[in-house]
Amino acid sequence: MSESLSRSVAGKVVLVTGAGSGMGRATAEVFAAEGALVALTDLAGSAIEDIAADLRAKGHQARAWVLDVSDHVAIRAVVPEVAAAFGGLDVLVNNAGISSFCPIDDEEHYDLIWDRAVTVLLTAHQRLIRAALPFLRQSSSPRIVNIASTEALGATSRDSPYCAAKAGVTGLTRALAVELGKEGITVNAICPGPIVTGMTEKVSEADKEVFAHRRTALRRYGQPEEVAHMTLSLCLPAASYITGVTIPVDGGLMARNA
Ligand code: NAD
Repeated sequence: MSESLSRSVAGKVVLVTGAGSGMGRATAEVFAAEGALVALTDLAGSAIEDIAADLRAKGHQARAWVLDVSDHVAIRAVVPEVAAAFGGLDVLVNNAGISSFCPIDDEEHYDLIWDRAVTVLLTAHQRLIRAALPFLRQSSSPRIVNIASTEALGATSRDSPYCAAKAGVTGLTRALAVELGKEGITVNAICPGPIVTGMTEKVSEADKEVFAHRRTALRRYGQPEEVAHMTLSLCLPAASYITGVTIPVDGGLMARNA
């Protein structure tokens, strides 16, 4: 089989943001287990050093870099460092995120939460992509995956900053897929539904169960690995004709009416 239709990411260099927890961590672990060279990035004080050390102890190739995705200067420094350390960059997974609930009438906090949501959840994605492009252009199978949310497709009350930013991610994904397609760079988005991660740890088990039974087809929350495997699938060299799409990984949440 030619490399262009390979189902292996062995030897590919993958940069994951927000890799210290939840879906970012699972993504780093899934790619590492498949033989990729993984750059785990996250805020200072996150678990990335320990996760990278665990992966290396299992014989995988992984390194950690502190990167606050709201810091434009840091992005411009870290992305080339990763490419220099691993000899290139094939895959960018824009995953880092924060929840940003705020009622529209909250005059004291709304603008602050809006600005933070847009900076971390949307602006960071385009900045990471712009920093990664010179290296992705050197790759034989360049891939970008942006983690959006089912909140980009539907909405929860009092979640407008998050919904707006995530809907922006799906628009950015389509626009860059169209703009970069002639270079063979694929750009896709994943919309996770309710997933068991740090972001949802404050939701009690009882509330999780009620929500999952009422809203998802599969009647359960998803595991971070179930999202990570979709990310991996979109990044295979064989996934060379999939671009500009937004894929829910949501246990059937968007499909279900009643
Ligand atoms: P999580 O809280 O477990 O992990 C998020 C990670 O992002 C953390 O390690 C955190 O330190 C990091 N992060 C936060 N701000 C950052 C910044 N400024 N710079 C760098 N890293 C930063 O949450 P998760 O659920 O794994 O979230 C991953 C992505 O999935 C997010 O984009 C989130 O919006 C999205 N998402 C989550 C769910 C869910 O149900 N958990 C559903 C839909 C979408």
